[in-house]
Amino acid sequence: MLSLASLSLSGGQGKTTVAVLLSKYLARAGYTVLVVDADPQSNLTTFLKHSVEPDQPTLLELYRKQVSLEDATYPTETENLFLIPSDDGLDQVQDYLASSGVGALALGKRLEPAAGVFDVVVIDSPPQRSQICKSIIGATHQVIIPCEATVKGYGSLVRTIEAISELKEDGASRAEVLGVIPFRDRWVGRTRTKESEMVIGEMATEVGEKTMFPSIRESEKYKQAISQGVLLEDLGTPDLAYPFEALIDRIQEVLK
Ligand code: ATP
Ligand code: MG
Repeated sequence: MLSLASLSLSGGQGKTTVAVLLSKYLARAGYTVLVVDADPQSNLTTFLKHSVEPDQPTLLELYRKQVSLEDATYPTETENLFLIPSDDGLDQVQDYLASSGVGALALGKRLEPAAGVFDVVVIDSPPQRSQICKSIIGATHQVIIPCEATVKGYGSLVRTIEAISELKEDGASRAEVLGVIPFRDRWVGRTRTKESEMVIGEMATEVGEKTMFPSIRESEKYKQAISQGVLLEDLGTPDLAYPFEALIDRIQEVLK
């Protein structure tokens, strides 16, 4: 089993967009996928059309060891795709993790039973550098960093890499950066805007060309695909799926 976190330490960087669409493309490629909503904003849970009932276990109860992984896992409308949902109550786990002393290890431990059942686990992250983020970096094998093709996005990339390095130095993480995906890359006709061009160049200097993935272009189609529960091909824009095809190729190499 391979775990992948979609992580970037600022708001609106494309984390949930990447987590939802990557999970669906992986499921379509035949992998059995568990997607974990580790953000109290719970956008991913909403996008997968899951509504949390008051008496149903979520990631919060799994973190607290009140339920098993199986009890917190639900099927989705997509074949091969399963969800551990969240709601805003997940915020309560911050104190639990802070006081537990081994917060960075908690999520990895709770996800261990997924190894025999799922091929890939995809984790969606909150934007702040928090206890939850620490536990995601501690749990995951690989990190995908989406970051807006803006100066803010570049800052998010730098802070995310720093956070991963710090936990690795402390021996609390084994995470590798699988790739960086520029998000909302802007083009006018056949020309990339100057800001996108400059920022994506700086990102490549920061992490190396080999770590850069094809960008997610500025387009309403991604939002539409997610809200309609379909893939980009279904909207007649297969070319926009290119970043996800490239990600799946890399993931297949890692899984070998
Ligand atoms: P948060 O930090 O709040 O969790 P996030 O990093 O998960 O944000 P998303 O929710 O994936 O980011 O995307 C941010 C916003 O950009 C959303 O409103 C989303 O619908 C929109 N969006 C998604 N894809 C694109 C795109 N290709 N072009 C423009 N906007 C997009
Ligand atoms: Mg999000």
